[in-house]
Amino acid sequence: QQFEKDLDKAIGGTWKKDTEPPYAALTYTFTRIEATTKRLEITALLTSFFLLVIKRSKAGDTDTLRLCVYLCINRLCPDYQGLELGIGESLLVKAIAESTGRAKEAIKDDLKREGDLGTVAVNSRSHQPTLWKPKPLTVPFVFARLTEIAKTSGNASQTKKVNVIMKLLAACTAPAALEAKYIIRSLEGKLRIRLAERTLIVALAHAVVLWQQDQEGKKWNNEQLAEQFEEATGIVKSVYSELPTYDLVIPALLAGGAKGLRESCKLTPGIPLKPMLAKPTKAIGEVLDRFEGKQFTCEYKYDGERAQVHRMQDGSVAVFSRNSEDMSKKYPDLVEQLPRCFKESAHSFVLDAEAVAIDKNTGKLLPFQELSRRKRKDVKIEDIQVKVCLFGFDLLFLNGESLLRKPLSERRELLRTHFQAVDGEFDFAKSSDSNTTEDIQAFLEESVKDGCEGLMVKTMESESSYYEPSRRSISWLKLKKDYLDGVGDSLDLVVIGGFHGKGKRTALYGAFLLACYDADSETYQAICKIGTGFTEEVLKSHTEILKELEVHALRADVDAGGAKPDVWFEPKVVWEVLAADLSLSPVYTAAKGLVDERGISLRFPRFIRIRDDKNSDDATGPEQIAEMYERQALAQSKPGKKKRGG
Ligand code: ATP
Repeated sequence: QQFEKDLDKAIGGTWKKDTEPPYAALTYTFTRIEATTKRLEITALLTSFFLLVIKRSKAGDTDTLRLCVYLCINRLCPDYQGLELGIGESLLVKAIAESTGRAKEAIKDDLKREGDLGTVAVNSRSHQPTLWKPKPLTVPFVFARLTEIAKTSGNASQTKKVNVIMKLLAACTAPAALEAKYIIRSLEGKLRIRLAERTLIVALAHAVVLWQQDQEGKKWNNEQLAEQFEEATGIVKSVYSELPTYDLVIPALLAGGAKGLRESCKLTPGIPLKPMLAKPTKAIGEVLDRFEGKQFTCEYKYDGERAQVHRMQDGSVAVFSRNSEDMSKKYPDLVEQLPRCFKESAHSFVLDAEAVAIDKNTGKLLPFQELSRRKRKDVKIEDIQVKVCLFGFDLLFLNGESLLRKPLSERRELLRTHFQAVDGEFDFAKSSDSNTTEDIQAFLEESVKDGCEGLMVKTMESESSYYEPSRRSISWLKLKKDYLDGVGDSLDLVVIGGFHGKGKRTALYGAFLLACYDADSETYQAICKIGTGFTEEVLKSHTEILKELEVHALRADVDAGGAKPDVWFEPKVVWEVLAADLSLSPVYTAAKGLVDERGISLRFPRFIRIRDDKNSDDATGPEQIAEMYERQALAQSKPGKKKRGG
């Protein structure tokens, strides 16, 4: 209630029942969230805001809440529809300059000082007297304009985008609500209010519980309320991980509360779920320790690209990437091959698989690099040079039924019953169910000989082998041959800065600053400088890609610690990197505070490849780095192990 009063006061009582929420109401909530680091407080603020949206929306309106939710996580649609914001700095500087009558250079100078273009936009506005009074921005209006900008492409798209942005900026008139700040940040692609999606889901569940309490005239005590909160949160989280689209989950949630959600929203072919991921392991001994007493299976870890294949009720087929991107246009050959790979008994399904490049003549597996040479868009079957074979390892849905809560042994059985191997087109992931060290070692060697990265080891029976969407689960362990001697696994890191090359390489970047990504605080944390082992050719290609991403100032969501590169980049490009080991560092900020008050850095980092199947916020997180550091420390403390630096 206090939040409601504060909000109404801040925006001058402009939000009435049955009217659209002013955008300022949302940005007021953002400013309150940005001002705290406490997760519980963030959840409470957002819960209060969502509750207000529900209460003040017209009866039966579920769309307003949906739009607010999307704006809170800075998205416009479910991931698989692929519409994204992320407008470059120079275009935004231009729009701010033109809408405020200031020079671009002045804006850039301010940006260098502030590090946040959103704040610069707010400060720039006050320089300009308002000649006419535009209509206040509402949430649906801003959402529609952002969507329009994201959809604009082709001829003169830059000018069109600048015009829409200028109109939005000119209409930012609410007192002290800092609308311009968040419009600009939304356009940039990151809100930077430390609002992780998992917190938003909790707030959504809580708001619906409170609203239902109101509706049903109940008065729960604190204990009962906490119980209701917990139950609702669990349901919303699990349903959303199966059906990750607010377009369906929010209307269902408002219609039947959390309790009805499991019935109304289920895994559906056509809507990709976030894949289950694995934890790294360093040795077969560790696998045996972790899975002691459990039945498990080893599968080849194929070196390709994850492919989640959906067959819809109408018989059409779609292939989605690890990031829920629709890859059907990248893999027209896979789409063509598929009907031969499943039997008539499989009317609809969701298959989890790896797409791997193979040699056209010998059928041998080729490394991921070959696959990455394929074009990503508008691929024509007749132009395809690199042939792809699909290796199925899991079945998540079959003929109207979700299989997520069935043990892997059953899912595998169904997979083998309803699919069939077709030479060079489809096969089942090769597996071995033997659990002795010798057999695992032999199978690991064999997998590497056959061109795989190593093994995936998975629990087979009971609840511990259920499919866990979007989780890096301890029920799946990866054992990569290459990494047994290093830190145990490679890291996926974001390139945030560059150092100019020396000597004949002055036109190129010679070294780079890398960062991990902390989803909780929405910050990139610097982890190491990487500069050795690049050939001239590789440096050239990196320079070409990264030059485009140079920005004028260190962004506020980059925590660079003591690192001082010559240029900063928009955090976009993800590299897979290996290191000799991890060490504590007073300079770098990765995982700072998790194992020590210092950060963690990589020693002897080595570039492996560009991960263009990962977004910058899919990069390795600080908890994973802390975990790797702790495992390394543990391994070094075991008798017989040589101590290494750090
Ligand atoms: P990386 O692929 O670099 O190991 P990642 O973060 O993409 O890292 P992980 O969870 O670490 O994913 O490893 C699992 C990945 O391995 C899957 O995403 C999938 O693409 C691939 N893979 C290959 N073979 C299998 C298999 N038999 N079972 C599961 N995943 C497999």
